[in-house]
Amino acid sequence: MAITGRRAGSLSSRGHWAAFVMGTLVVTAGWEWGVLLIAYFVATSMLTRLGHARKEARTASMLPVQRERNALQVGANGGVFTALILLGEITGDARLSVAGLGALAAAAADTWATEIGTLWGGSPRSILSGRAVPVGTSGGITAIGSTAGVLAAALVALAAHLILRPEGQGAASPAFAVLLGGIGGSVGDSVLGATLQSKRWCEQCRTWTERRVHTCEYRTRHAVGLRWMTNDAVNLLATVLGAVLAFLTTVPLAPR
Ligand SMILES: [Zn+2]
Repeated sequence: MAITGRRAGSLSSRGHWAAFVMGTLVVTAGWEWGVLLIAYFVATSMLTRLGHARKEARTASMLPVQRERNALQVGANGGVFTALILLGEITGDARLSVAGLGALAAAAADTWATEIGTLWGGSPRSILSGRAVPVGTSGGITAIGSTAGVLAAALVALAAHLILRPEGQGAASPAFAVLLGGIGGSVGDSVLGATLQSKRWCEQCRTWTERRVHTCEYRTRHAVGLRWMTNDAVNLLATVLGAVLAFLTTVPLAPR
């Protein structure tokens, strides 16, 4: 699957190695987890390709042009899921598996919201100030994108229900915990994007951007946010938040 992703141009060379290692680890924990990870990866790659030229035209001033996912991006989106699913199988504690699914739901919700929102969401607004922001701005949200994000989290929650098959537990069902983790994680992603994420300034165009070299070919400078808080760091933190929320919601569950 990783080689197919590489050949299709969805993964960089190191990205396909990262995906290979992650996929192998996840399949070690059980085939159902591997199928879920592959479904996530295929859906994400297809969504990224969908209307690529239109998305690129809408966000070129704001975001670097990138078709392939690199190792850092693969790890930021799937690393927490992989680690927790493995831990869940090793310890037999279903709460860790639920936490891992919460991380995956957060990653899926963020990707769907971004890709669908960029294509069809119209003009985004900042999640905090409510002011209109340019398409592609981190922390900007649209109604259509947010709806797509909730749908993605719901799909992972459905998978959680099918894989974990809860039986008469008194606590919140895994599906509910995963849905909550997915939505909470992607909201956290947008809030971090609007606050701490590094933003740069192009003096030539007098505009905000995340590009180091702007479309006008001028070098941009770091202006606000934390220097190290890149989009990948935000994604990683969002999956951690999704995992924590799902874990806390499902804590009253007894270990399997
Ligand atoms: Zn410029």
